[in-house]
Amino acid sequence: MTMTRLLPSREDEDMLETISRFAASEMAPHVAENEESGTFPREVIGKLGALGVLSLPHDEAYGGSAMDDEVALQVVEELARTWATVGVAVTVHWASVHPLWKWGTDEQRKRWLPDLIGGDLLGGFCLSEPEAGSDPGSMKTTATRDGDDYVISGTKAWITHGGDADFYTVMARTSDDGARGISCFLVPGDAPGLTAALPEKKMGLTGSRTSQVQFDHVRVAADRRIGAEGKGLSMALDALDTGRLCIAAVSTGLAQAALDQAAEYARTREQFGQPIIDFQGVSFLLADMSARTSAARALYLDAARRKDRGVPYTRLAAEAKLFASDAAMGVTTDAVQVLGGAGYTKDYPVERLMREAKIMQIFEGTNQIQRHVIGRSYR
Ligand SMILES: Cc1cc2nc3c(=O)[nH]c(=O)nc-3n(C[C@H](O)[C@H](O)[C@H](O)COP(=O)(O)OP(=O)(O)OC[C@H]3O[C@@H](n4cnc5c(N)ncnc54)[C@H](O)[C@@H]3O)c2cc1C
Repeated sequence: MTMTRLLPSREDEDMLETISRFAASEMAPHVAENEESGTFPREVIGKLGALGVLSLPHDEAYGGSAMDDEVALQVVEELARTWATVGVAVTVHWASVHPLWKWGTDEQRKRWLPDLIGGDLLGGFCLSEPEAGSDPGSMKTTATRDGDDYVISGTKAWITHGGDADFYTVMARTSDDGARGISCFLVPGDAPGLTAALPEKKMGLTGSRTSQVQFDHVRVAADRRIGAEGKGLSMALDALDTGRLCIAAVSTGLAQAALDQAAEYARTREQFGQPIIDFQGVSFLLADMSARTSAARALYLDAARRKDRGVPYTRLAAEAKLFASDAAMGVTTDAVQVLGGAGYTKDYPVERLMREAKIMQIFEGTNQIQRHVIGRSYR
């Protein structure tokens, strides 16, 4: 049975249909090869840029589509259902644009936003450091004022698109005042002194490059600081709220893909003279996979609708990320089980989906950190 979506309008249905066709024709044929060779599909991102996907949430005045999160996140889910690397790439780009879009001055937005969301450029979001992961408030990278410039020095870790990005949104320390001493900067990817290390050798999401990015006295004009000095961490955490919804959507796409492939296999694989789907042990497994996937979707969409209506959604975003990524881990693992020995081979994509699901429980704040966010809301 195919999954159907409830979308607010006919135009939104057309958009999802376009994305679905694009994923089938332009993405699906390349996934296995790119993920095996660790090649980032930059040309696919370029085509999605031309379709307007990199600017879906942003204001029309700057060339965006002003699309509600309820719909934009389903676009992300649909992309991730075919290729998690691509879904993640779109959402990291949105995160890297987020501070400028939300807190830039009118002049800064007019100057940079149309190019950054124009479809040709790709962003990176530099928050984590080797010694500051779950606790970004302890970061050491500094941005020191020098006349009309800031000079940035330090190392950012685990940066998605590190070395591939055209620009980076960088959080760096402008004072020793703990979490209140961090500011946000928009840094060109080719700034002198900025270099990316070799890509990390990861368990999954291998088509997406993840690298340390070093800042060795990188000089940026002071007007590239976004927002006031000291507001960088709160801007980053705000971007992470949206980012968590995005990861929930990517996770749901992964779970849906695993469920579809497991059901298809179970309908055709025969043992004891009948399709294995006719064994209750298998069909109950599929039933639980289906329920978890639908619940993950319902949770992120509830949070998205609140966000669209201006209702606080931080706790629900954390719940959606926590639940959907755990669901993706469980559902992809069960999909491997449904395929038996075949599921444990690279002849079928479910083992890759399982490896990709694991990172969903770790980035945008580990699931332990999501529990902190949720628990704190009840204090
Ligand atoms: C593939 C990939 C892509 C990434 N992309 C980006 C990116 O684009 N930009 C970026 O800035 N970062 C990125 N990250 C970094 C990611 O957000 C961090 O890895 C994550 O926040 C965890 O930090 P850490 O790895 O340093 O783990 P640590 O913080 O060292 O955590 C280790 C373990 O301790 C647990 N732990 C830590 N503190 C607590 C606590 N208070 N209570 C309970 N448990 C706790 C964690 O849950 C975890 O299980 C990426 C990471 C990966 C792997």
